[in-house]
Amino acid sequence: MTARVFLKHRRSKPFWYGEPWVYDASIDRIKGRRDLKDGDIVELADHEGKSIGVGFFNSRSRIVVRLVSLGEAPVDDELIARRVDRAISLRVGTLRLDESDTDAFRVIHAEGDGLPGLIVDQMGDVLVCCFDSLGMRRFRDVVLGVLKERLQPRTIVERFSRMAREEEGIEGTDGVIDGDEDHVVTTIRELGIEHTVNVLLGQKTGYFTDQRDNRLFLSGLAKGRRCLDAFCYTGGFALAFEKIGGAEHVVAVDSSQPALDVLSEDAARAGLTHQEPIKANVLRHLDHAAKASERFGLVNLDPPKIVRRSKDLTKGLRLYHEINTKGLSVCEDGAIFATSSCSGTVSADDFERMVAQAAFTAGVRVQLIHAGGAGADHPVLVPHDRSRYLKFRAYRVFTLHRSNTGK
Ligand code: SAH
Repeated sequence: MTARVFLKHRRSKPFWYGEPWVYDASIDRIKGRRDLKDGDIVELADHEGKSIGVGFFNSRSRIVVRLVSLGEAPVDDELIARRVDRAISLRVGTLRLDESDTDAFRVIHAEGDGLPGLIVDQMGDVLVCCFDSLGMRRFRDVVLGVLKERLQPRTIVERFSRMAREEEGIEGTDGVIDGDEDHVVTTIRELGIEHTVNVLLGQKTGYFTDQRDNRLFLSGLAKGRRCLDAFCYTGGFALAFEKIGGAEHVVAVDSSQPALDVLSEDAARAGLTHQEPIKANVLRHLDHAAKASERFGLVNLDPPKIVRRSKDLTKGLRLYHEINTKGLSVCEDGAIFATSSCSGTVSADDFERMVAQAAFTAGVRVQLIHAGGAGADHPVLVPHDRSRYLKFRAYRVFTLHRSNTGK
């Protein structure tokens, strides 16, 4: 017998519409609790017992139920296989990424593809998988079977995210789980540029495919400009600024030396000679640059996830404000300023308001010229707003001179 999770009165509306995350605060009671284990499939019902759907249960997680399916369709191997297949079809059939100048993209975007907690990235000839929910782990073999059949990767790697460990209680060691065991450093192509990706030791799944469209957009504005790529990692933006955009010079700052080494090697291989990688804390580096009156014609800020939980929102926004104020302070008059947030808890409104306040603090005016997010290979299964985690905004910056304020 499948256990049933009953929601509190007046708490069920979002779930009827397909919101997949059920927190403890919405739950009234659970029937059949005795034999229920974390990772099991449960039925979700409203307070009167009307069935809403079926999902994964995990008492350890803040998200107690992750809704997989609306209605009463069973969550079984067939359903999961169909969803994996449908996810692949979006990327290779509809978006035709496999025919483009890019071979690194998100194949499965968890809730966005109706597969809660499952992330799969294709990195050239390697697939990187994260089973970030206990329920999803039970379907590991089914998922791997479809991936292998349709994408025929040389190697499949499994990574265990911090989220999986801390939130879901999933333990394991990152490693190759199928194919060529020695092939953990691969070369991907993005927008025609080659990047080295270490799928085992690189951050997250090795490379951030979600910024691809924003790299292309921003590169289009880089011509002849002196650029600063802050939090550059292995240079997804930095190399594109020069190779696609024709930037005059690119200062690329990150605190990770291994990431900067990859950036340097990839730049050399591509014949890019205007890259200046600097190992530093971005905040301190920006302070020095401002003090030395160093100015840039294009500044890009792409910090790591700063806000993990809603209780840290105020503190996190303060840090975003500080970083953005410092970034705006090194913009020359007429510069392009681009800024990102990958914290799902920070709304687009919060983020834009923060930039407006940072502009005030920095003493500049900004014009919003572009709003973007993650690419189409990171779909959002409406209404799950939290899948829309990446916010990218580009502005033109005017410095205020006391003599012409307001003109
Ligand atoms: N822009 C990158 C992705 C950035 S990920 C791309 O397009 O691929 C965030 C990066 O910030 C990581 O590489 C991490 O090493 C770096 N980082 C985190 N905190 C930092 C700090 N205080 N100073 C400098 N780099 C930092």
